[in-house]
Parts: sequence; structure tokens; C-alpha cells
Amino acid sequence: MKKLSGISASAGLVIGRALLYVEDEFPEIPRYTLEKGQVEGEWKRLLKALPEASEEIKNLRDQARVEISKEQVDIFEAHLLMLEDPIFLDQIKASLESRLENVEWVVWDIASGMSRKLAASPDLYLRERANDITDVSRRLISRLLAVTKFSLADLEEDVILVARDLMPSDVLTMNRERVKAIVMDQGSRTSHTAILARAFGIPAVLGLSSATKEICNGDSLAVDGGLGEVMVNPSGKTLTKYRRYIERYQKEEDDLTALQSLPAETTDGHRVSLKANIEIPEEAKRALRYGAEGIGLYRSEFLFLAPGKAACEEEQYLAYRKVLRAMGKRPVTIRTLDLGGDKIIPGFQTGNEKNPLLGWRAIRFCLALPEMFKIQLRAILRASVEGNVRIMFPMISGLEELEQALALWEDAKDECRRLKQPFAERIEAGCMIEIPSAVMTADILARRSDFFSIGTNDLVQYTLAVDRGNERVNYLAQPTHPAVLRFLKQVIDAAHAGGIKAAMCGELAGDPSYTPLLLGLGLDEFSMTASSIPQVKRIIRGAALRDCCCLVDKALNCSSYHQAAALATEWLAERFPT
Ligand code: PEP
Ligand code: MG
Repeated sequence: MKKLSGISASAGLVIGRALLYVEDEFPEIPRYTLEKGQVEGEWKRLLKALPEASEEIKNLRDQARVEISKEQVDIFEAHLLMLEDPIFLDQIKASLESRLENVEWVVWDIASGMSRKLAASPDLYLRERANDITDVSRRLISRLLAVTKFSLADLEEDVILVARDLMPSDVLTMNRERVKAIVMDQGSRTSHTAILARAFGIPAVLGLSSATKEICNGDSLAVDGGLGEVMVNPSGKTLTKYRRYIERYQKEEDDLTALQSLPAETTDGHRVSLKANIEIPEEAKRALRYGAEGIGLYRSEFLFLAPGKAACEEEQYLAYRKVLRAMGKRPVTIRTLDLGGDKIIPGFQTGNEKNPLLGWRAIRFCLALPEMFKIQLRAILRASVEGNVRIMFPMISGLEELEQALALWEDAKDECRRLKQPFAERIEAGCMIEIPSAVMTADILARRSDFFSIGTNDLVQYTLAVDRGNERVNYLAQPTHPAVLRFLKQVIDAAHAGGIKAAMCGELAGDPSYTPLLLGLGLDEFSMTASSIPQVKRIIRGAALRDCCCLVDKALNCSSYHQAAALATEWLAERFPT
């Protein structure tokens, strides 16, 4: 038996069999000589692989078209031309005949030669084409070798998925009935894979560094998502212990759900609002089961992340309508597209960024593509008659961006009026605070916002310069760091001074260890993974606001995150010994 310790990303206990999902590097290309009589067969193999590779590229191109990504469409068009280029094809045929070597090797050799020449060119345009040649030849060789990616959507048995890293799109498309837990080398609690795992109620341990090396396919695993532990080939005694834990865990979950209809009110009568974060419309019902008073964050970009989903206006409208109908009169906060960072669609232009976390993402991307952005805004407006919708813009760095976004929002309303498309009269428009510059200008932003929602996942990342998906630096992502605590206070105070409410939808809002600090800082609304609501509510209902304010006064005077975290832990341990 071996015990691996990582980051607790999604609570829950599971026993099951490991399935290693490790994508191979590009395979080694075989090289062998042919008999003269085999040349024709090799050529035929190429003629079969060419249309298959073209089909793949066309799919990517069409997806880019829907996404109005002209640059990417052009690249795929160029790749298609290359596959049909008679000079390239003649050269392959001639080489097959003269060298008598297998076609994969010939394609690779010719393409590498062309690519090397282009890479040495003084012309930037030609140098960039070198990568295109490599890209096309790899696609063609993959078809020749019939390398196809195994699909997680096709899983037919219960498994514990063990991977180096999973893209959010993998988690969205995998057969969620069959994946009982996720174990990953990379990732942290705030990476989007973790967020999705929690949303789907799948236990997950991330940031294990070498799980894919330590675990073999078919190994028996016992996963404790809450403790961040994975037992590899556990002994019979450990398995019995786990089975007992699983029973107890289920009972605790049931007890907590019983809090569903009780208000989130402190012992001295201070009421706050607890809402849910959702990624897909189907989660809305689950949110209600846990007692959510509304949706504080609907990550709308996940509509785009499931492959094959173009998310046109109609599709978006239907998704928003579904959530609004499920939630009745309760507020639903739709966050406008936050693509980029780790939320990348394969073949989408935000995927070509050198430094995606600081690059062309979220509101920057939407403001640069106003027509695409307005499709979403119109879809939200159309759906608004179905319930109580709010809108918020991600990654706002300053007033200019907020004003541009609001101007497009007004344009979208004008378009709806012209089309005689009814929409709700009053829709609150808020601003996410997740960049230090937004914190420092919160007083200015408050004048143009109906509410703030603090995105601590990104705010901690950008304040402390810690990549939220990198397990090596994850230890630095400390919400009790004095810089973070001061920022939170500054934002909440600025919101209140400006007469608006301060919400939080980062993962911090759903972590009960920080609930007293957030209450004491004056947070009005906590939005989190639905299953965290009962635990946070339990703390709120057992705490006095006065007491929480004293804790905050002390925490703000701490000079290190250790000190402040220790204070918060002590505070909780005294009042909630169980
Ligand atoms: C955040 O950054 O805290 C947030 C809620 O947004 P996301 O996690 O989707 O980046
Ligand atoms: Mg964010």
C-alpha cells in the first residue's frame, strides 16, 4: 500500500479502480525500407489519410468560423491548401519511389526540411509558416499511424481517473456517471478542473506531482477528496476503514442538507445571502436542494467549452432561460464570457497566447469582438423576462473597460428594442473585482456598478503572482496574506461607501474556515459550489457578527499569513469544536 498526498479539491470518499488517462507525446515515427512493389500501397495509404486529415482541419476551421476568429480560420485554410499542394504531394511520391522508405518517414523528412528552411528565413511571415508545416505534417502522420485520442465520453465502467492534467473541456465531456473520482498530477483548488469536479460532486485530489508515475492502470485506489489523500492498493484493513468513513460521510451530508430552509443569520441577527456558483444549467436544481438563495455566478463560458457546442444566440438564450426558470424569483447572476486563461477551446484563438493568464482573455477578448459579445448580451436580455437576472463582467482592470462593457450592454438593449424583443426593465450590472488595479480603483468602479463580486481565485493569483493551476507554487496562494486581507477590506468598504453590495464568488466564499473573517469584513453575499452552502451556513448561524469583527481587527494587524490563519483556526476551534 502506498499513500499519496495532494491538494483537496473536491470532498468525498471513493474506492475504485484506476484508469490512467495520459496523453502520449507525439509518437516516435517509424522508419523502414520498402520493396519496390510496396510503393504503390504506401501511396494509397497516403491518399486515404489525406482526406481524413483535411476533415479534421475543416472541423477546426468551422469551429473557428462560428467563433468569429478570422485569424484562426485563415491558418486552417492555409493548412488545407498545404494538404492539397501538388508540389508537396509530387515530392512525396518521387521520394517514395527513389528512397524506398515508408510514407510516414518520407512525409516527416520532407516537411522537416521545408520547415527548417523557412525557420531560417529573415522574413517573419515565412518563419511563422515553419510551424504550420510541422503542424500539418504531424496531423497527416497521426492519421497514417491512426493515432486517435481515447475519448472520456465513451467510458463504460466505473473508474477513478488518473491524469497529468485535464482540460475543463475534458471534464465537461467525460461520462460523469462513470468517473467516480479524479486524481491529478497538476492543478490546485481554484483551477477550473477542481471547480467543475466540485460542481459535479466528483471527489478530486489534485497537485500530486507524480500520481501518473506511482499509479498503474487497474490499481485499486481509495480516494479521500476532503483530506487530499489517495491510497494505492490499500490493505483490507484500510478498505474496511474507508467503507465506514463513506457511511459516516453520507450521514453528515444528509444532516447538513437539513439546514436548507433556515436563514443565513448570525446569532446577533446579521443576515447575509448564500448563493451558488454554477457552470452548466443542470446545476441550478442541485443548488436549490442545498438551499441556495440564488445564483451568484453562472460561468457562462462553459457553454462554449463543451466541444461541438457553438453556443449561438439561441443556444445561449435557452441555457439562460433554463436557469432562470429553475430559480424562479431568485436572482441569477450571469457572468459574461470569461474565456482564456485555462479555459481554452481547442483551435480557439485565445489558445495561442504565450502568457494566457495575463493575456487576451475575458472582458478584453469580448470588447475586442463586440459583435460576438453582443450575441451573448442579447441572449441574456431575451432571457431576462423569465426571471430575476443580473449580469457581471469578469477581469475588469479599470473604469474604461467597465464603461465600454456597459456601452455595449446599452447597444444590445437598443438592438432588442429595434427587433421588438422584450426584456426586463431593470437589470443590475456588476463588476467582478479580481485584479489589483480594480481593488485600488474600487471607489471609482462603485460609481458605475450595481454590485461588486470579488473573484478571489484570480485576485489571489494576481495579488501574490501565483499561477492558480501550478501545484509547485500553490503553497503561496494564501487568502490570509496581509495583502489579500487588506484588499478585501478595501473592496468591501468601497462598495458600502458607494451604496452597493459586496459579493464574493471565488472559492474562498465557500471555505468554512474563512467564513468568520468574511463576515467580519462585512461581506454581504457569499456564492459558492452548492454543496458547500450547508457548512458555511452552519458557521454563520453559530457565530456572532460582533465576535467576527473582533477577529478581523486582530487578523488585519497580523504581519504574516501564518499568524492570521492561526487566529482564524483558533477562533473556529473554540466555537465549533466538532
Ligand atoms: C474567480 O476568479 O474567483 C472567479 C470566481 O472566476 P473564475 O474562477 O471563473 O476565474
Ligand atoms: Mg476569475
